[in-house]
Amino acid sequence: MESSTLVNLCPKCSKPLLARYDLVKAASLIDRSQVHHRDNSLWRYPEVLPVHNPAFRLTLGEGWTPLLKMSKIGKALGHSGLYVKEEGANPTGSFKARGLSVAVSCALERGAKALSIPSAGNAAGAMSAYAALAGLRAHVFMPKDVAPVFVTECEVLGAEVTLVDGLINDAGRLAASHPDAPNRFDVSTLKEPYRIEGKKTMGYEIAEQFNWELPDVLIYPTGGGTGLIGMWKAFDEMEQMGWISSRRPRMVSVQAAGCAPIVRAFQTGTAHAELWQNASTIASGLRVPGAIGDFLILDALRTSAGTALVVEDHEMLEAARRWGAAEGLFVSPEGAATLVAFEQLQASGWIGPEDEVVLFNTGTGLKYFNAWQ
Ligand SMILES: *Cc1c(COP(=O)(O)O)cnc(C)c1O
Repeated sequence: MESSTLVNLCPKCSKPLLARYDLVKAASLIDRSQVHHRDNSLWRYPEVLPVHNPAFRLTLGEGWTPLLKMSKIGKALGHSGLYVKEEGANPTGSFKARGLSVAVSCALERGAKALSIPSAGNAAGAMSAYAALAGLRAHVFMPKDVAPVFVTECEVLGAEVTLVDGLINDAGRLAASHPDAPNRFDVSTLKEPYRIEGKKTMGYEIAEQFNWELPDVLIYPTGGGTGLIGMWKAFDEMEQMGWISSRRPRMVSVQAAGCAPIVRAFQTGTAHAELWQNASTIASGLRVPGAIGDFLILDALRTSAGTALVVEDHEMLEAARRWGAAEGLFVSPEGAATLVAFEQLQASGWIGPEDEVVLFNTGTGLKYFNAWQ
């Protein structure tokens, strides 16, 4: 990517822009077998990230998270190939750090002075952290019923917080219509091409951690879908660089029963997802009633022969307790949803005994502690 100005959506069709690289050149610069000598962060793959000058790479240690084998849970369920990508280990306690590390770096490199973000919670905290590190002003817009921990986190990190009567899409509208909006670079999910570049590094890491043979199934708790779309993009890039074969995991989207626009669209066979009314779930990262990248998520699910399913809030809470007591991880409700989805897909035979399956614990349970009280 050579452009040095900040971009948001496509000026012609108002759809998401995706970064493209000279992958022939990138492949000549990286030797797959030497990557293990590099930084223990997502910046171990700079040739396929849109920050040109290393001086602008903002890092708090995001990415290169553990891939853990879930031996005890796996044994209890009679499945040996069950893993978790432990994203709760990221700065600010969620994988939102990946996207915002890269997006704020890009904004800094391209001369932004102030940033804004509409968020259901975790993205706001991550943006506040990297904006602080960069010395950029940060303004976050969150639903007013967001858990207080997210508001406190942003304030302590020096951001200006506006609470919005409504959901994340209403917060997005307010951020865009704010009088200061023209002076701020808005890093709303997929309304700019940089956050997804940070999130895609999960795909690179999984390939590397599985020794360049991708697993059979990835189960992803889906809100705006950047991680899923990003990993799908990463697989294509790696294939073009000759790092992996054309074999792909089956991609699975999990959503909350109280907000499941992607699952509904997947089941009814439509290319886009209709806005979900009265969205409600304790898994704040999944409380996204309409995703601008809906068609990209649905395409990845279908092309990969994947699927989509819903989980109830009480099932998430119960699964988190079992998971925590067995494996020592305090997972977020979003992460716990992937275990419930695994159990359903195993019971129905969609996941077979030989399948290697990766769950994503996308955040720490600590920020949601009162959900279990
Ligand atoms: C944002 C978030 C999600 C959803 O991620 P998307 O990439 O927007 O689909 C899942 N879990 C947690 C903890 C989140 O913060």
